[in-house]
Amino acid sequence: MSTILIVEDELAIRSFVSLNLKKKAYKILEADSGEKALDTFKKNQVDIVLLDIMLPGMDGYTVCQELRESNQGVGIIMLTARTQEEDKVKGLLAGADDYIAKPFSMTELEARIISLLRRMNSYVNIPFPKRFQSGPFILDLAQITFTCHEQDIKLTPTEFYLLQFLISNKNQTFTRDNLLDEVWGVNYVGDIKVVDVNIRRIRTKIERDSSNPEYLLTVWGHGYMWRE
Ligand code: CA
Repeated sequence: MSTILIVEDELAIRSFVSLNLKKKAYKILEADSGEKALDTFKKNQVDIVLLDIMLPGMDGYTVCQELRESNQGVGIIMLTARTQEEDKVKGLLAGADDYIAKPFSMTELEARIISLLRRMNSYVNIPFPKRFQSGPFILDLAQITFTCHEQDIKLTPTEFYLLQFLISNKNQTFTRDNLLDEVWGVNYVGDIKVVDVNIRRIRTKIERDSSNPEYLLTVWGHGYMWRE
């Protein structure tokens, strides 16, 4: 059973989401502030955090950054009342895997949760090989690690899944739509920008110069490619 931590100060929304997810047999934890969320997170095993941006005290972006500093493996979906592009990107750059704009339907939220859980657990169902080497990098699906010259690089579930897909299909170009379908799922209704932001984030972690990448390339007018 997956555990979901709902961080939302509006009681009506929190209770509604909580009640509906409990019906789907998720274990639910709740917090009405960022500070309480971090505290609950420390004391429990959490798979996914649903994180509101506008919170009293510490805001959702800060909570997201703090969560990521201590844990790269947890899945994070931002709940945002805002629709501006800038806020979505800011959430993703802070380390979120996804975002969903309020008001959202439970069907849409559940689809996002299932898609994220699939990314987080993908390695379980993958047959051989379980290990990909490319240049100085090794992606190990059994250990769920990504290393460069044997140095561990911490990746979020989405970054790991995206890299796994690109490296196992190296030297092939994929459009952002292809990647959205492969990584986020064909039923994903979110923004294509989520692909760009994740690519950007991975580059800052793995490339010597992220504005002039050697491995994770932009193929102008087409999309992205892992070059070996
Ligand atoms: Ca709020």
